[in-house]
Amino acid sequence: MTLDPVLARIDADLPQATDRLLDLLRIPSISTDPAYQGDCGTAADWLVADLQSIGFEASKRATPGHPMVVAHTGGDGPHILFYGHYDVQPVDPLELWDRDPFDPQIEDTAKGKVIRGRGSSDDKGQLMTFVEACRAWKAEHGQLPANITIFFEGEEESGSPSLTPFMEENREELTADIALICDTGLYGDSTPAIITQLRGLLGEELTITGPNKDLHSGMYGGLAMNPARVLARVIAALHDENGRITVPDFYDGVPELSNELAAAWDDLKFDHKDFLGEVGLSVPAGEVGRRPLEMIWSRPTCEVNGMWSGYTGDGFKTVLPSEASAKISFRLVGTQDPLKIRENFRKMVQDMLPADCTVSFSDHGASAAGQMTTTHPAFDQARKALSDEWPNTAAYVGSGGSIPIAGHFKDILDMDAMLIGFGKDDDQIHSPNEKYDLSSFHKGIRSWARILDAMTS
Ligand SMILES: [Zn+2]
Repeated sequence: MTLDPVLARIDADLPQATDRLLDLLRIPSISTDPAYQGDCGTAADWLVADLQSIGFEASKRATPGHPMVVAHTGGDGPHILFYGHYDVQPVDPLELWDRDPFDPQIEDTAKGKVIRGRGSSDDKGQLMTFVEACRAWKAEHGQLPANITIFFEGEEESGSPSLTPFMEENREELTADIALICDTGLYGDSTPAIITQLRGLLGEELTITGPNKDLHSGMYGGLAMNPARVLARVIAALHDENGRITVPDFYDGVPELSNELAAAWDDLKFDHKDFLGEVGLSVPAGEVGRRPLEMIWSRPTCEVNGMWSGYTGDGFKTVLPSEASAKISFRLVGTQDPLKIRENFRKMVQDMLPADCTVSFSDHGASAAGQMTTTHPAFDQARKALSDEWPNTAAYVGSGGSIPIAGHFKDILDMDAMLIGFGKDDDQIHSPNEKYDLSSFHKGIRSWARILDAMTS
């Protein structure tokens, strides 16, 4: 049995593994703030040295922004690429932290020990779970069971400007049989989750213009067209009374949930009352007749993210505004075509405008949804391996958010990706007092050892 001694070593080595993570967490690698540029390089150097100590051929690779870290073992077996990011979010507001975000500590809490510090959960603690699994395997067996490539990015929290050019320039080096991405969470507290679908995103901003300047509503009101009224009518028309989105052909490419997935999701016993109750709500507001989990994972959405017009300051002003604007985003699923939807949305708005009104649009990005290839054997192997480690069987889940990296692996490298992570909902990533449960770290390391074993034996 090749796995048991690896797991035993992981257990014995946990204090040292934790110390190594604390070391990495002390480096303030905030990618979006130029003041921390040197620290991003330091974090990359730290990872290169650590990977070299395990026997990886590792290097820091320059980009126009922060460096990438790429490491290889070479060797036999399936070629597996592992992705994580070493950069972190800014720490503001600093006064809401109970301790220095870059002086990480192990804390005892009512729910067990946690590693407290910026980047502990997103994503340094998560990326180190895989590194530690490799370290234990190498120490026990002298070599890793697969041909492993590690790919760490330093700009994930600042829009990944160098990512796709780097992937294009290093296509051959980065293409593997499958990509493992560790930047997501468990389902609940103890159900490991493999993400099978991610929603895409389309962002649109529109400004409707009526009169050529702001007018006095006493002098012009009643006679002049008010663009705020027009905008309100447009926004109100985007959904029908059943919560369906009315943009023409919007549902082209939206798949029905398979019976298998529907049953699996029902097994998760998602409690929308709890979920909504946390934010002071109670009633699902999506399409009538859909499961709450469908509403956040597998159905497309249209949301108003901002709207403004006229006078919004203190007091009152009887203005009849010249302009009215809104920011509107669509979450997309299946094979919905973001560019086609943009075109149809713009035409729909245009067609609703009364005489004397014009509209201008600006675009805030468009990305299609991602569907993972769950028939790839790695999915079944990982699911069994995770179920052996955790109290609950691993679940296939959707993600309402958009994680572009998975799509880039598919589009640029024609490589399937599997997203597995061990974060928890209360990890406070991107917020003050970020933490990672010590048990997530420990079981995460053990999980990767089990997955490597399942994928290679
Ligand atoms: Zn992340």
